[in-house]
Amino acid sequence: MSSNPNWTPVLSVKNNKFLLVDDSVVVSQLMVGVIVELDKDFEAANHVATIGSGIRTESKQLTIIRNYAIAERIHQEFPAILTCTVDDILQYENEPVFAWQPSWCRLLQKGYKIDPIRPAVVLFDYIGSSGKNLRGHELEASKHIVPDAKVEEYCAFDVRGGANGLEDEAKIIGSVFESARIPELVAFKPEPKQNTIHCDVRRKT
Ligand SMILES: [Zn+2]
Repeated sequence: MSSNPNWTPVLSVKNNKFLLVDDSVVVSQLMVGVIVELDKDFEAANHVATIGSGIRTESKQLTIIRNYAIAERIHQEFPAILTCTVDDILQYENEPVFAWQPSWCRLLQKGYKIDPIRPAVVLFDYIGSSGKNLRGHELEASKHIVPDAKVEEYCAFDVRGGANGLEDEAKIIGSVFESARIPELVAFKPEPKQNTIHCDVRRKT
């Protein structure tokens, strides 16, 4: 025991044995609480998985969009994605749009479940999970992008799938979600194209 009255025990994801967290992943204490708790469910299922993404900066989100765009050769159609910044604007069909926006929308069409860096309108036909064409609709910025002042209020992390895709991970996370055992885990969304399960976390008030 410490005699320092300011000392408080801090949970750490480093002790997780089944739901591991990549060193590069940025987490808040709110997320740590959920991830430590979720480790028990992965242990009960005797299944090891990894969290590959947590809190991101806007420029990290741009890098993710850029890398997927290059992998899908979208940069051949929209070369601005190779060099643009988060703030860059270009004219697309006589409308000002973010320079990354056309590439992001092509990724949506190709099945990537990826949210924009800033709130942005879907420029092309894209059938969302609701079955509705979201062309012309504004989508919210990624929940991975959290201002410093809000990191203990909400955030998101992604659990990587394994060799057989998302089946095992979706089953474990799905049953935790159904049971509401971890109330801060407010939503989850399989992203098969990226082989990850996106998890939304929100502090209970
Ligand atoms: Zn995610």
